[in-house]
Amino acid sequence: MTAIDLAIVLPAYNEEAVLPISLPRLEKLLDQMIADQLVTPKSRLVFVDDGSQDKTWALIQQAQTQDPRVTGVKLSRNFGHQRALLAGLSVTAPLMDAVISIDADLQDDINAIPKMVQQFQTGYDVVYGVRNDRQTDTAFKRGTANMFYGLMKRLGVQMIPNSADFRLLSQRAVKTLLSFPEENLFLRAMVPLVGYPSTTVEYARLQRPAGESKYPLKKMLSFAFDGITSFSIEPIRLVMDIGFLFVFIGIAAFIYSLVQHGRGRVVPGWTSMFCSLWIIGGALMIAISVLGEYIGKIYTEVKRRPRFIIEEDTVTPSEKETQKK
Ligand code: UDP
Ligand code: MG
Repeated sequence: MTAIDLAIVLPAYNEEAVLPISLPRLEKLLDQMIADQLVTPKSRLVFVDDGSQDKTWALIQQAQTQDPRVTGVKLSRNFGHQRALLAGLSVTAPLMDAVISIDADLQDDINAIPKMVQQFQTGYDVVYGVRNDRQTDTAFKRGTANMFYGLMKRLGVQMIPNSADFRLLSQRAVKTLLSFPEENLFLRAMVPLVGYPSTTVEYARLQRPAGESKYPLKKMLSFAFDGITSFSIEPIRLVMDIGFLFVFIGIAAFIYSLVQHGRGRVVPGWTSMFCSLWIIGGALMIAISVLGEYIGKIYTEVKRRPRFIIEEDTVTPSEKETQKK
């Protein structure tokens, strides 16, 4: 196997407490991988400073002077984890064979990195890191994560369960990913849309070594909601189902009161009030959800995702052949 040019991209937001711990570990890993001839000495550690207010950028610059393999990307303000990651990928991928993204706190086990590289060398374009053990996460985080992956599956969104933003992407996979121009990024559901041969590598999730999580509950919930609404218009269809149920209840109540009427049990005004309430309510919900269907269509249209992605073809003459002519 030939050694590859690899970039490890790490988004960092106010991570001054974490960088001095993460950096030496990453450098050691890189040394080892170069020694094992998995990666070339051209390989890099790319830190993306996502508009930190602390010393993060200063630390990155300092690291750069001590180790030329360290490079930095500084965003003009805080854009959020997903965009910082994409920024890092876009800058590094053209220079590298493959890029691995991992959080700066190294909660995802870096020992999985050499395994990812090996999978890349055997021909995979995408290697997902999958957490097989989340003991270090709180029961609450684990529970909600499971619920979320289950819900996404039911909504028809293809995702690799327990995979986050620790993964390897080949150069062409990054290029394809960048051709998705959408604003609302939810990379863990976007990457499966890219296609190409993919596989997984398992690892255990570790504790954050220092600093605190930049994803408090509120941010996590809004991230999950973003994921659902960016990838599924199923919730709109749910409204339609509920609408039909309401209309059905209204009609059933109408039949029930007809029967009661035959038996001479009449409450004046009840039937018209009760039935019309449910039937009109249901009809409105159906109408809203029909509108929603169209809005959903507009939504998928404006995303301008590629309509197809060609992995290879034997129709287009290769560059070599064109040059011959
Ligand atoms: N992060 C970022 N921009 C943000 C928030 C977080 O670049 O606005 C980075 C952060 O520095 C870390 C990664 O995203 O490298 C994941 O964040 P964190 O570890 O706080 O999340 P958790 O592991 O608790 O889910
Ligand atoms: Mg973390």
